[in-house]
Amino acid sequence: MLIDLSDIIKDYGGKLELCESFEMQNTTFLGEDFAFEGPCLFEGTIQNNTKSLELEANVTGKLSVRCARCAKPMIVSICFPVSEILVREDAEFTEDEDVVVYSGSSIDLSEVITNSFLMNVSGKYLCSEDCKGLCPHCGVNLNETSCSCEKDIIDPRWEKLAEIMKNMSDTE
Ligand SMILES: [Zn+2]
Ligand SMILES: [Zn+2]
Repeated sequence: MLIDLSDIIKDYGGKLELCESFEMQNTTFLGEDFAFEGPCLFEGTIQNNTKSLELEANVTGKLSVRCARCAKPMIVSICFPVSEILVREDAEFTEDEDVVVYSGSSIDLSEVITNSFLMNVSGKYLCSEDCKGLCPHCGVNLNETSCSCEKDIIDPRWEKLAEIMKNMSDTE
């Protein structure tokens, strides 16, 4: 998402209001695929504090995920903050300062937004708090059906194994 900074760069002490609808790029992180449903909304401000530009915004959108227990696909609403200091490449700043450098009079915020998303995204979504998950023995979805496997208490540590077994049987 490209933001035109030409007015705010010259407006010392000024503030630019932003409200942009944009397409968030699907991304993969630590083996998880994150796919977005429809456009996201970027709302916030860029303030010129005379030395740099302060970006403060919130991104809201819809994310397509799978239940961490039963793998059911679902859509969840997400909202995360984006907070950065933007510094022009010819300005004075030290290498170790945590700033985003831009050149010219515009900035592409796509990478900044994706990084903020990954820092804030929850790794675990459940279709419901009491999702029964998959049977660790035969892999059926216990929300939809029951099976004749022995009903032992499932240690949460086995859930991961059940997931792996499910994935293995999916790829067969
Ligand atoms: Zn579930
Ligand atoms: Zn079973």
